[in-house]
Amino acid sequence: MFPPFCAACHGRMPEGQRGAVCSDCWDAYPRWPAGACQRCGGPAPASGAALCDGCRIPDWSCAAVRTPGPFAPPVSQAVHLMKYSDRRSVAATLGTMMAEAARSDDAYAGADLVLAVPLHPARRRDRGYNQAQLLAAAVGRALGKPSPEGVVERVRNTGTQTALDRQQRRANVDGIFRVRRPGAVSGRSVILVDDVLTTGATIGSCGRSLVDAGARAVLALTAAAAPLD
Ligand SMILES: [Zn+2]
Ligand SMILES: [Zn+2]
Repeated sequence: MFPPFCAACHGRMPEGQRGAVCSDCWDAYPRWPAGACQRCGGPAPASGAALCDGCRIPDWSCAAVRTPGPFAPPVSQAVHLMKYSDRRSVAATLGTMMAEAARSDDAYAGADLVLAVPLHPARRRDRGYNQAQLLAAAVGRALGKPSPEGVVERVRNTGTQTALDRQQRRANVDGIFRVRRPGAVSGRSVILVDDVLTTGATIGSCGRSLVDAGARAVLALTAAAAPLD
């Protein structure tokens, strides 16, 4: 199934280990220390917020955010594998790490359901699956919460956002999500899952739709966080 080499260190996989990444690489991943800013890993903000002042996202719909650590090896390779090749088993490992990052927070522990930021249907067809849904399902299994697909949909395909600045990204993703089953989120606390926290614009736009549909709280959870440009 997998070649006998680790996708991160390219060393031969130790006997008996399965998956794309070896356990030494997973063990070496620099997770955030307790109480750190969930984007830069710097000192915890005095306010108790998840993001420090430099990382704070203005007017964000998400009430909280949790990430296991930075967008660094082997998580960066694992996210790439999950997106561009059909190695879904890495989603199980990432989802377990995400659940661990969320479990210590009472708001997450008390959430009602786990949803993924959806792909546009055309993009999902091309790829065959939504990588965020693979993560949401793994998180849901680990936390014992449902992770239904199809509650919220992406009604506009935005393409790549890499050439846009922060304000342009926000405008570009404004209103691109629609909640198809408001009854599933009304009055509920939702853990909203995506692969990487970058500007927060996309997950924020999806969260806005959920809040508008009556969600009590939207709690962001991603596999990693990238620094702001
Ligand atoms: Zn390795
Ligand atoms: Zn920070």
